[in-house]
Amino acid sequence: MGRHVSKKPKMTKTCAHCGLPFEWRKKWAKVWDEVKYCSERCRRAR
Ligand SMILES: [Zn+2]
Repeated sequence: MGRHVSKKPKMTKTCAHCGLPFEWRKKWAKVWDEVKYCSERCRRAR
C-alpha cells in the first residue's frame, strides 16, 4: 500500500492589509520574519 501523505509544511502568513493568506516566496527568503503584507501594493497601502 503506497499511501503518500505529502503534507508540505508550507510557510504562510496573513496579509496585514487585505487579510488574505499568502505563501512564502523566494524573494522574501531573508526577510520572511518581517514580511507582513502579501504584496508591495498592500505594503504601500497603509
Ligand atoms: Zn495584501
